[in-house]
Amino acid sequence: MTTAVLKLCGVSKCFPAPGGAVEALREVSLELAAGEFVAITGPSGSGKSTLLHVAALLEPPTSGEVWLDGEDVARLSERQLAARRGGKIGMIFQKFCLLPHRSVLDNVLFRFRYTRHPRAAARALACAALELVGLRERMEHKARLLSGGEMQRVAIARAIALPPRLLAADEPTGNLDRAAAEGVMHCLRELNGRGATILLVTHNEALLRHCSRHLRLEDGLLVNQ
Ligand code: ADP
Ligand code: MG
Repeated sequence: MTTAVLKLCGVSKCFPAPGGAVEALREVSLELAAGEFVAITGPSGSGKSTLLHVAALLEPPTSGEVWLDGEDVARLSERQLAARRGGKIGMIFQKFCLLPHRSVLDNVLFRFRYTRHPRAAARALACAALELVGLRERMEHKARLLSGGEMQRVAIARAIALPPRLLAADEPTGNLDRAAAEGVMHCLRELNGRGATILLVTHNEALLRHCSRHLRLEDGLLVNQ
């Protein structure tokens, strides 16, 4: 039997809030096998981003278990968690999370902050990722001067500059026109073809045809499996 790349067992996530705690995820269980390309859809506020943040080891669950490549991540130290994130996980944030005053290239190089790549090797990988998203000519531009669609593509380049074992992509085509969205999906499929397992949140039903499985979240619950 092969080990799942990601396994969530009864994962719940509560956020304290002034009007009472918000239950963003309620006992979510799912398993991603190596090489899967899984789409998650659901209404705004249904817990999609929270699910990706938990899957990308950016947030611990309130209860339940998260397993990455057969490791129970609750047993890992902060340092080990950071090493797993750096070495295995690519995250494309819904709000890009770029460094606005730094160049496009510096933003992509941020992916290598906690890896041991020599500078020249990191730069070559960053440039290749920027080429893939069509922004190589813009690499010296400051991130804050880019359009929303371009920022999104920088965020994608940063996540894929080091081919991740697991890519968590939060509406990576949300700010793109149809042609650019198809271009991004092409990148993701290529990455998937090279072995990355992908968890993609999208609102765009037209993109589901690229995925091997489709899950839906409603009010923190997975409603189809
Ligand atoms: P989606 O991505 O599906 O729109 P989210 O995962 O962002 O949904 O949010 C799910 C619910 O959790 C929402 O009600 C949201 O307001 C709440 N939430 C998310 N993050 C936090 C937080 N850090 N603190 C408090 N509430 C949060
Ligand atoms: Mg979201």
